[in-house]
Amino acid sequence: MALVMVIEDEEALALLLKYNLEKEGYEVLWESRGSKALAEIEKNCPSVILLDWMLPEMSGVEICRLIRSKPDIKNIPVIMLTAKGEEEDKVKGLSAGADDYVTKPFSVPELMARVKTNLRRAPELVQHKEFVFEDIRMDLVEKKVFRGENYIHLGPTEFRLLRMLMETPGRVFSRETLLKTVWGDNIYVESRTVDVHIRRLRKSLNQYGPDYIRTVRATGYSIDTAPGDGGEEEGETPE
Ligand code: CA
Repeated sequence: MALVMVIEDEEALALLLKYNLEKEGYEVLWESRGSKALAEIEKNCPSVILLDWMLPEMSGVEICRLIRSKPDIKNIPVIMLTAKGEEEDKVKGLSAGADDYVTKPFSVPELMARVKTNLRRAPELVQHKEFVFEDIRMDLVEKKVFRGENYIHLGPTEFRLLRMLMETPGRVFSRETLLKTVWGDNIYVESRTVDVHIRRLRKSLNQYGPDYIRTVRATGYSIDTAPGDGGEEEGETPE
C-alpha cells in the first residue's frame, strides 16, 4: 500500500485529504509542522508528499528544498498545495523542486488524479533497492546493512554516510559535501562531526572484515579497496 505524507496545518483540510486518500486505499501520514514532517519523511519514506505552501515555522518552499537536498528522500514526488494561484508562487514552488502544483480550492477528484499520476512516476525514481560493495550490502528498502551474513546495526547518520559512499565507490567525498548532503544545508555542524561519525561507521563495519573506508588526507573519504593514507580519521591524534 502506498504511503502518502500530508503536510498541512489546516486541520479540516488535512482531515478531508486523509479521508479521501484512505478511501482510495492509501496509507496516510499527517503532520502540520515542517521539522516534524521531515523527520517522519526520513523515517517512513512515503511514496508521494502533499505539501502546503503556507505553514508555521517553515514554509512549504523551504521544506521542499530540504527534501531535495537529502539523498534518501530527494526523489520522492512533491505536490505543492497553495491558496494562491499566482504565477510567481508557482515558479517559486517548481524551482524549489516541487513536481506538481495544485491551487486551493481544488476538487478532490482532481487532486486524487494528481496523486495517482505522481505515484506512477515514483517507482522509476526509486533507482536502487540495494547497494553492494565487496562483502558489504545495504538494503535500502529495509534500511539494513550486512557484512557477509552479519547484520550491522548503524545509527541513522552512519547509515546515510555509508549510503552516500556506496552510491559511487571510489569517489572521494569532501567533508563539506558529506555535511551538506547527509546533514542538510541549514543545519550547522562542524566538519569534525563528519570524522566522529566516520569513526563510528568504521568501528561497526570493521567488526566483520577489512577497512574499506578510505581516508584521503586534506580531502575527505571514499569507500574503496585501495589503502587510504593512514587509515585514521584526519585530525585525530594517534594514541
Ligand atoms: Ca496552511
